[in-house]
Amino acid sequence: MQAWHKDDLVPNRECGECQACCIVTAIDKPEIQKMANSPCRHSLCGGCDIYESRPPVCREYYCGWRRMDLFPDSWRPDRSGLFFELEAGQPPPFQSMGISIMLVGNPLKSIRQPDFIDFVARNVRSKVALFLGIPGPKGKQAARLPLNNSEVVEAATQSRAELRTAMEKILKRLQGHTFISYQMENSGQDTST
Ligand code: SF4
Ligand code: SF4
Repeated sequence: MQAWHKDDLVPNRECGECQACCIVTAIDKPEIQKMANSPCRHSLCGGCDIYESRPPVCREYYCGWRRMDLFPDSWRPDRSGLFFELEAGQPPPFQSMGISIMLVGNPLKSIRQPDFIDFVARNVRSKVALFLGIPGPKGKQAARLPLNNSEVVEAATQSRAELRTAMEKILKRLQGHTFISYQMENSGQDTST
């Protein structure tokens, strides 16, 4: 989990019932630890049951959908199956801000959405570094691959069908990945379920 400040959140956009970040992300701080792809035990009743006293790492975290209006309103992670995080510091020739896309719902359904395919095409053509990922089993690191390979770049200039096929190939590779355990540095406050 990477912290961001609330200064520049997209107006009128709220988390609502979404809890994707409380499930998918690994948290490894002295005050709280949670394994990747494991619901935090504070999230089990819907919403955070320690909301008022939740630790800073939770208080300061917002996913990409909360932070940037280049993701449409309808793409709240629990509804779209698309969980975005922004990744600053990408090297040339890419724009400095890259985007990680974790498939947290039905992965095939998510990547076949026409507006998602168009989003990928637009950003690949604009040299935004995109990374496609799927969560691993509980406690394992996610699998992810760059989307800006030559096949995707070429397909992004052709048609939705070509780009969908190229992304489906990447998804297949992700699904064949050998997931690696995440080694926690902190202990004693594990909220994994
Ligand atoms: S994933 Fe985003 S929208 Fe969902 S709860 Fe976390 S910050 Fe809110
Ligand atoms: S403490 Fe609350 S905000 Fe933090 S991960 Fe758990 S449920 Fe989510």
